[in-house]
Amino acid sequence: MTLRPNSPEARDAAYHMHSYTNARALEKDGPLVLESGEGIRVTDNNGKSYIEGMAGLWSVGVGFNEKRLVDVAAAQMSKLPYYHNFTARSHGPVIDLAEKLIGMAPVPMSKVFFTNSGSEANDTIVKLIWYRSNALGKPEKKKIISRNRGYHGVTIVSASLTGLPNNHRSFDLPLPGILHTTCPHYWKEGQEGETEEQFASRCAADLDAMIQAEGPDTIAAFIGEPVMGAGGVVVPPATYWEKIQEVLAKYDILLIADEVICGFGRTGKMFGTETFGIKPDIMTMSKQLSSSYFPFSAFMMNDRVYQPIADESDKIGVLGHGYTGAAHPVGAAISLENLKIIEERGLVENAAAMGAIMRKGLDDLTGNALVGESRGVGLIAALELAAPEGMEIPVGQLGAKMSGYMMENGLISRAMGDALGFCPPMIITEAEVKELLDIVGTSLDALTKEILG
Ligand code: PMP
Repeated sequence: MTLRPNSPEARDAAYHMHSYTNARALEKDGPLVLESGEGIRVTDNNGKSYIEGMAGLWSVGVGFNEKRLVDVAAAQMSKLPYYHNFTARSHGPVIDLAEKLIGMAPVPMSKVFFTNSGSEANDTIVKLIWYRSNALGKPEKKKIISRNRGYHGVTIVSASLTGLPNNHRSFDLPLPGILHTTCPHYWKEGQEGETEEQFASRCAADLDAMIQAEGPDTIAAFIGEPVMGAGGVVVPPATYWEKIQEVLAKYDILLIADEVICGFGRTGKMFGTETFGIKPDIMTMSKQLSSSYFPFSAFMMNDRVYQPIADESDKIGVLGHGYTGAAHPVGAAISLENLKIIEERGLVENAAAMGAIMRKGLDDLTGNALVGESRGVGLIAALELAAPEGMEIPVGQLGAKMSGYMMENGLISRAMGDALGFCPPMIITEAEVKELLDIVGTSLDALTKEILG
């Protein structure tokens, strides 16, 4: 494709280096330029409209033109456009939001720490856990266990926690002291003759063996998403979290639930931890916290985590950590209003109800020769394509082609290898779910015709 000189696409290709993009392909093909949003849809600069089947990056829960968020942002901008929380400063929006989040927590939590992105939150969590281990006189207790295919961000530490090859390769990651255990994806990792529960037991046994091999006194924490998102929407098998938590409790290892995608309704309950019976010590939150109308994130910790950290800061005289933009009054005001909207409009219940319809529709496609698995919970799902028996198709090719057909037909999805993710805004209606499913069906038909004739 040649880019029209001076077009937005050509200027973007000339000056803008993109995230998660093949830089050379972008120079040649340019980007998709989006101009506006309304409800569950976005429109590009040619006037073509798409259902945003991924809610942006799993994040725009309330849809793309929520006026209440715009108004609250404008009002806060006019009143106090910026302040920080260094050196014991605070402001109304952040006080209200911290209180609100602690009140919403599904298990007793003590304090909220604010950050700007999911990556930064997880990075900070690891730093504070190291600080805490030192405070407890256990300087050797620093290793963190994560999982293959887990996603926790892209800073040096959070990319190390992430268990995906593209986040490590050529970056000299993961850092030492960050370990990855078995991914709880039964369809891919389960062995011949193994039931889901036996597989869950094996995942827990693998974790136990890793802890034993490393030395239990060297492991500080385990981090996991209740449902893995960017690793391909992996819903763990029944009893998985129960068994993992038993292992962690045995060795005094903290549990971090990364709720960056799951939090605030996505799994059909307010938090993914509630859907799966997880009792975390720390919860990472972002994305649907502000519906991504503002870069904003936070984590909550219980007293077991907070108290030693507070003691250490008292001993040293200060907690030597914090970000200029964190606890931002505009982000906090937007987040508070966003949580109000989620509660007032029953969006968690809507995600559960619409998710059931969406997942049933995707399940109905599993008879297709190119569909390997349909999986999901609440309003987050994936349809994983697979080459039929006896056919060799390079990994990722079916996913990329399917994603291309869906784009053509007006639906933005995300291909993670051959798994197509579906995570639309939580305001979606039944008619819109049907429209989304129709596009998936039509696109799959086109792909099947292309591949199988
Ligand atoms: N944790 C999870 C579970 C995520 O899905 C993501 C982002 N996809 C992150 C952390 C990182 O968040 P950010 O991109 O805001 O740094």
